Amino acid sequence: MKPSKEPLLTVTEIHRRVAELAETLSSDFAGKEIVVIPVLKGGFHFASDLTRLLSLSLTLDFIRARSYRGERSKGTVEFLLLPTEPLTGKHVIVVEDILDTGRTTAAVLDRIQAENPESLSLCVLLDKPANREVDVSADYVGFQIDNHFVVGYGLDYNEHYRELPAVHILESG
Ligand code: 5GP
Ligand code: MG
Repeated sequence: MKPSKEPLLTVTEIHRRVAELAETLSSDFAGKEIVVIPVLKGGFHFASDLTRLLSLSLTLDFIRARSYRGERSKGTVEFLLLPTEPLTGKHVIVVEDILDTGRTTAAVLDRIQAENPESLSLCVLLDKPANREVDVSADYVGFQIDNHFVVGYGLDYNEHYRELPAVHILESG
């Protein structure tokens, strides 16, 4: 398996869209105290680029979730890292790489909601609505894509290809 030679989303397209999202978020959250929570590992490039373009005062915390996708334990989500700062009364923006079945995201949102934030918003780079199994939708979406397995810009295949600057479809061969 290897990344497609031509990207599905080029560096230019990604950066242009990230800048648009940053502008929208900066306007929607103007004057509010926000906490940005990237979901590791996949959300790290996206969150890094996005936060550097926000004209907001913000703090960062991190969450790391691992979802089991095998038949028997399907849907089980384990947290390997949890936010350490109090989120009560804060406007929280969760930043994720991709919304697929929705299971991981739903578990992440439930976990953060338990901390009683003032508001909780979800910003994803990629949305694959065709594959949704759980009722969860993002407030801010970079790109809707068809049901491909993609790598790059944070997204991995067996932990590889996260470092690619663009998003590619994973192809056999
Ligand atoms: P969900 O729980 O929504 O099914 O899956 C979310 C997680 O599955 C993502 O955070 C990501 O780790 C992985 N995932 C889902 N679709 C893709 C994809 O197309 N490419 C990669 N690299 N990971 C994916
Ligand atoms: Mg993954």
